[in-house]
Amino acid sequence: MTAMHTSSMHGFHADNERLARLIFDYVVDRLRQAPPPLDGPRPLEDLAAATGTMITEQGIGPAAALALFNDVLAPACISSDHPRYLAFVPTAPTEAATFFDLVVSAANIYGDWWLEGAGAIYAEMQTLRWIADLAGFPAGAEGVFLSGGTAGNLTALTVARQTWRRRHDTTRTAAVVAGPSSHSSVQLAAMVIDVPLVAVPPDARGRLTGEHLREVLDHTEHEVFAVVATGGATNTGVVDDLAGVAEVCAERGLWMHVDCAYGGAAMASSRARPLFAGIERADSFVVDPHKWLFAPFDCAALLYREPGLARAALAQHAGYLETLNPTASLNPSDLGIHMTRRVRGLPLWFSLTAHGSAAYDAAVTRGIELAAAAARRVEATDHLELVMEPELSVVLFRRRGWDAGQYQAWSDRALDEGLALVVPTVYAGETMFRFCFVNPTTTVDDIDAIILAMR
Ligand SMILES: *Cc1c(COP(=O)(O)O)cnc(C)c1O
Repeated sequence: MTAMHTSSMHGFHADNERLARLIFDYVVDRLRQAPPPLDGPRPLEDLAAATGTMITEQGIGPAAALALFNDVLAPACISSDHPRYLAFVPTAPTEAATFFDLVVSAANIYGDWWLEGAGAIYAEMQTLRWIADLAGFPAGAEGVFLSGGTAGNLTALTVARQTWRRRHDTTRTAAVVAGPSSHSSVQLAAMVIDVPLVAVPPDARGRLTGEHLREVLDHTEHEVFAVVATGGATNTGVVDDLAGVAEVCAERGLWMHVDCAYGGAAMASSRARPLFAGIERADSFVVDPHKWLFAPFDCAALLYREPGLARAALAQHAGYLETLNPTASLNPSDLGIHMTRRVRGLPLWFSLTAHGSAAYDAAVTRGIELAAAAARRVEATDHLELVMEPELSVVLFRRRGWDAGQYQAWSDRALDEGLALVVPTVYAGETMFRFCFVNPTTTVDDIDAIILAMR
C-alpha cells in the first residue's frame, strides 16, 4: 500500500485561518482608501528585478506571496476605480458588489446549468429582466452574463448569422452593416465569423441614421443579415438613431443588434432613457455592468428578444450533456459561446437588490451631470475648447495649440505624478482629450484640478 499524500494547501487549518485575516484586511484596506493610489505600469525588466523568482518548488508561503502582490505587483497596476481615472471607460464597483464577488468565489457555483446553479441563475435572470425592462424588451426576452461587450457582439452576430442561414436554408454567408461609431470589437467579430463588414457614413454628430442605412442597403453589392447600431459611442458618447435603424431593419427583415456596452447603463437614468427610443425593437443588445453599472470585472449582459434563436444556434450536444436536457430552457450554457461560467451577474444582483434601482438611477445620472459640468468648465477656460456637447458621460475637447506629442507628454506626466489618468484620443482625424465619467465619487474639484494642470 502506498501512503496517501495529504496536501496542506486544502482545508481550513490554522494557516488558512491566518491567511483569511490577511486577505480580508487587504480587501478592507484597499476599499477604505478614498481615493486608492492611482499607480501605473513599470517596465517588464523592473518587475522581473523587483520580484525575483516567484514560483519555486517549495513555495514562499501565502504571507510572502501577498506581500509581493501588495508591495510590487499591485502598485504596477492602475486603480481603474480612481475618481480621476477618466480615460477609456473606467469602472466604479459598489462596495456591495465587490464584497459579493468574494462570495461568488467562495460559493463555487457552476453557472451553466440549472442542475447546478438554479438559485444563482434565477437571481441572474431577475437582474437580466431588470435590464430588459429598461430597454422595453418583451416578456419573452432572456439573456446571459458574458465576459464583456466583445464577447456579447461576437455572440449576437453569431446567432444572427445562424438564424439567417436557417431561414434561408443555406450555408452561404452574408454581410453585417455597422454604424460609423461602431466599436473595434464589431470588426473583430466580423473577422471571427468571416463575414464582410459594410460601413455607413455618419450624420453630422457621427451617428448611424435610418436614412443613411437605407441608402447603403439599397446600393451595397452584399446580401446583409444584420445591422449593428451603437448606443453610446465609446469615443463620443453619442447614441445612434435607434428608432430610425429599427424601422429600416423591420422593413428589410434584418437582425438589429445594439452595442451599448458602455452607454446602455444610461437607460437606468430616467433622464437619459429617451435617447434609447427604438432599442425596444432590437433583436439583441449588450450592456456592460462592469463599465457604468457599478459591477466588478468582468460582467456583460447580452439580451435576446427571442432566446430560442440563440439556443437553436449555440446549444452543444454530447452524450455526457444529455442528462441536462430536461432543463435545457433554463441553462445559460446555450445562450453564449462558452460552457463553464462564473455566475458573474451576482455581484450586480446583490448590489441592485440591496440598494434599489433608484440609487442606480441617481448614480448613473451623476456621470451625465459630471460630463455636463466638465463641458461648462472647459468652455470657461481660454486654453481649452469643447468639441461637442456631451450626450452621455463623454466629453471631447481640444487643448489649443498642442500637437499629438504634447497631448501624450501631458498625459504621461499626469499619470507619473499621480494626478489623473486622462489620455488623448483621435476623433475625426484630430488628436484631442477625452473624459469619460462613470465614477460617482469624482468631484467637480477633480475636474478643475485636471483642467488647471492643462494650462
Ligand atoms: C467597451 C466597449 C466594447 C467592448 O467591451 P469589453 O467589455 O471591453 O469587451 C464594445 N462596444 C462598446 C460600444 C464599448 O464601449
